[in-house]
Amino acid sequence: MEAVVWEGRERVAVADVPEPELPGVHGAIVRVSAASICGSDLHLFHETVPVVPGTILGHEAVGVVEAVGSQVSRVRPGDRVLIPAVIGCGSCPACRAGYPVGCTTLAVKVFGVSPFLPGTQAEKVAVPYADFNLWPLPAEMEDGDALLLTDIYPTGLYAAENASIAPGDVVLVIGCGPVGLCAIQCAQLFGPSVIAALDPIEERRCWAQRFGATVFATAAEATSYLGEITGGRGANAVIEAVGSEATLHLAMDAVSTGGRVSMVGVLVRSDVSFPLGSAFLKDISFRVGLVNVPRYLGRLEALVRHGRLQPRTMLTHSFSLAEAPLAYRTFDRKLGGCLKVCLRPARWCC
Ligand code: NAD
Ligand code: ZN
Repeated sequence: MEAVVWEGRERVAVADVPEPELPGVHGAIVRVSAASICGSDLHLFHETVPVVPGTILGHEAVGVVEAVGSQVSRVRPGDRVLIPAVIGCGSCPACRAGYPVGCTTLAVKVFGVSPFLPGTQAEKVAVPYADFNLWPLPAEMEDGDALLLTDIYPTGLYAAENASIAPGDVVLVIGCGPVGLCAIQCAQLFGPSVIAALDPIEERRCWAQRFGATVFATAAEATSYLGEITGGRGANAVIEAVGSEATLHLAMDAVSTGGRVSMVGVLVRSDVSFPLGSAFLKDISFRVGLVNVPRYLGRLEALVRHGRLQPRTMLTHSFSLAEAPLAYRTFDRKLGGCLKVCLRPARWCC
C-alpha cells in the first residue's frame, strides 16, 4: 500500500509499504478515506522533534473499518469512523479517568511519531483497542468535518477549557495557525467580551478575524491594546498556540494578576526557560498538555451537527496521497494561503 514516510530533514516520500496487520484481538484495520497534515507533523518534518527514517507519518484521519479482531464489538467492517490522534487501551486507570495520554498499557499513544504506531497518512492504519478508540461517524457528517475533529478541534476546546474563560473575559490567543483558530472558535463558546489574536501572517489574521477576533501582527500592538481595554491589567486568559519560548514568555507577561495561561503549543526541549519570576507575584494558573482527544468528541460532534462549528471550511487545499511531498511543502510554506490540507488515497479521489 501507499504511505507517507519520513526520509530525512524536510524530505517525505510516498513509499510502497507492507499492509498493516490486525493489532491483536482488540484491534482494527481502517481504510483511510481522508487524512490531514498537522503543525505537529512539521516538528518531525523539520526534525525539531526526533524521528526515525521510514516512520509512516500522520495522526489525523477518517476512514472505513475494514477488519476487526475477535474481541471488538462496538465497530464493524463497513463502519465510517474517526481515528483520534491520541489513543489508549481504555481500561488502565488513566484511560478510565479520561486521560489516554497517560495510558500505561500502550507505550506510544500518538500515531505517526514512531515506527511503533505507524501513522495515518497511508491507505490503511492499524488501530489498537478499536472499541475504545474508534469513533463511529453519523452518516450525515462529512469527511472534511470529521477529519478536523481528530486533533485540532479537540485541542482548541481543550485549550479554551484550560483557560477557564468566563462570560465577559478578555482573552488573548497567540498564534493563528489551525490550532490557534480552533482555540478562537472554541473560546467563543464561553462568551468572552474580546478575543485578541496575534499572528505575523496576514492571511492567518484574516481567518482569526472571520472567527470574531481582534487581530494584531506584533506582540507590542497586542499588549498595548490589551493594556488599553483592561486599564493596564492584561488578559484574563491567554492561550499559547505556537510552541516557542518567546510566545510562552509573552503569554506570562500578557496575562493579568489572577489570570490563566493555557499552553497547547508543543515546546518539549529540556532547556526551555520558564518565566517563574514574572509569574510569582501574579497568582497565575498555568496549564499545559497533550490533548486527550476522546474526551471532546461527543461535544464537538454535537456542535458540528447543530451548525455551531463548520470545521471543513478550514480545509483550503486538497491533494491525493501520492502528492504528499507537494502537500507538505505547500502546508509548511503556507503557499497559496494554505491553512489545512486534505490528503486522499487514490480510490477516494474523484
Ligand atoms: P502552525 O505551524 O500551522 O501555526 C503556528 C502559527 O503560529 C503560524 O500561523 C505562525 O505564523 C504563528 N506564529 C509563529 N511565531 C509566532 C509569534 N512569535 N507570535 C504569534 N504567532 C506566531 O501550527 P498549528 O497546526 O496551528 O499548531 C500549533 C501548535 O500546536 C504546534 O506547536 C503544534 O505542535 C501544537 N499542537 C498541540 C497539540 C496538543 O495536544 N497540545 C495538538 C495539536 C497541535
Ligand atoms: Zn495534530
